[in-house]
Amino acid sequence: DAVVHWFKWDLRTRDNRALAQASEMAQQAGVPLIGLYIVSPQDFEAHLTAPIRVDFTLRTLKVLREDLAKLDIPLWIETVEKRTMVPGRIADLMEGWGANHLFANMEYEVDELRREAKIARLFASRGLALHLAHDTCVVPPGRLTSGSGKQYAVYTPWFRAWIRHVHENPELLELSEPPAKNPSSARQRYAALFDCDVPLAPESKRLTPEEEKRFRPLWPAGEHEAEKRLQKFCNGDIGGYDKHRNIPSTPSTSNLSVHFASGTLSARTAVRTARDSNNTKRLDGGHSGIQTWISEVAWRDFYKHVLVHWPYVCMNKPFKPEYSNIEWSYNQDHFKAWTEGKTGYPIVDAAMRQLRGMGWMHNRCRMIVASFLSKDLLIDWRMGERFFMEHLVDGDFASNNGGWGFAASVGVDPQPYFRVFNPLLQSEKFDPEGEYIRAWVPELRGVVGKAVHDPYARGAGKVAAKAGYPRAVVEHKGARERALAAYKRGIESG
Ligand code: FAD
Repeated sequence: DAVVHWFKWDLRTRDNRALAQASEMAQQAGVPLIGLYIVSPQDFEAHLTAPIRVDFTLRTLKVLREDLAKLDIPLWIETVEKRTMVPGRIADLMEGWGANHLFANMEYEVDELRREAKIARLFASRGLALHLAHDTCVVPPGRLTSGSGKQYAVYTPWFRAWIRHVHENPELLELSEPPAKNPSSARQRYAALFDCDVPLAPESKRLTPEEEKRFRPLWPAGEHEAEKRLQKFCNGDIGGYDKHRNIPSTPSTSNLSVHFASGTLSARTAVRTARDSNNTKRLDGGHSGIQTWISEVAWRDFYKHVLVHWPYVCMNKPFKPEYSNIEWSYNQDHFKAWTEGKTGYPIVDAAMRQLRGMGWMHNRCRMIVASFLSKDLLIDWRMGERFFMEHLVDGDFASNNGGWGFAASVGVDPQPYFRVFNPLLQSEKFDPEGEYIRAWVPELRGVVGKAVHDPYARGAGKVAAKAGYPRAVVEHKGARERALAAYKRGIESG
């Protein structure tokens, strides 16, 4: 008598594959559609979801609930304390609502796949039907294989295959219809569901009032904000994206990652909108800023494909098993200095303070700080990966794990281990005037000129010391050699 769509990280009504299918079935059967969202505090804990990300999600649910209500579709939000209870609770709710069909989009991480397998078994025993759709990637995982039939482990040939596949299968960029309006009787029949409120965040994941004030204006929630931001970007900054995207002091990137991660924007819509703002219908032609941006969005697909093919990356293991034996340092003072942005390397410190300050960090800086932690400090990259998840508004397992694997040289298609970023050269190259550094490290605002990159070595030590800026925790040249030796030993013994 009803069809249910279970929202997860697909918190939008537009271009949502499973939601569109659910709506179509409901329409054909002449029955109402019900939206469901399960708040799972244990999943937030297990997956290290940052409070800022939980807050963004809950704010998004408010927008979603309002949008659905305009279509007379209720959104039932329920907290289920134990995650093992989620499948059973969904089945109970469905039976209570007289619904036989559950639609949802696939999530590819191991915990989620196990949960969905459990739901499928349970549903089979209770006469309920589960319909799963591929939605989050432009190209569903499993579609692209190399000539020898294997999953690509290198991005460039994978990306060529991705482009080819999208051109050959234009339906991949066809947008799904938003859900249709429910029969008006749904309002009466499911009146109680329309009264449902969005809960507060679980206590351990709650922002402080100060953080709410600081973060919320930075990250307006919901799919309409995503759409606005996408349009603005595609009508403006995307043009210079290839030239400026590595400069963290400029707002030259799209800032859409939170929307991709929460599913308030679909990758299809993004790629299609970017393509349509180009003067060609191809993904690999026309304006190079647009092409470059599309290739970055494709990285997100790439890392999701990787985790589907090599699910052990979800289990704290490096993609390259031969990198399992590196003897990491667990120096807590160094780790703390890194997390607090007090390493004495201005570009690293600016970036870590940006992370704490906004719940987001520029991509170039993510690479710099990840390299610094895993190589200069020789600290286990998994500690950094974890810290990122705990603080990022856009924390996404596949992209974060992929990014850390790249920078620490233990991942798929990584930076070779002997390429160690020199943080001072990175700083001069990508923040030449020190604008980014001065924006995030107030102690260095009084340092003039290039000395800002390395104040103690460049004659600005007095100013820096007076302002309380720390000296470098390690010396780069020696740290680099220590890292090379440790990586080499680890690989040889692996
Ligand atoms: P844009 O430059 O405008 O790019 C557009 C979109 O493409 C992004 O929103 C993102 O969805 C995708 N994208 C771009 N670069 C990458 C990439 N290298 N890998 C995967 N997808 C990419 N991204 C996340 O979404 N979540 C994470 O948890 C995350 N952790 C990272 C950790 C490390 C160590 C590194 C090096 C990168 C990480 N990234 C992560 C990728 C990237 O830094 C962010 O996606 C990007 O900075 C987001 O800003 P933007 O939306 O303005 O990006």
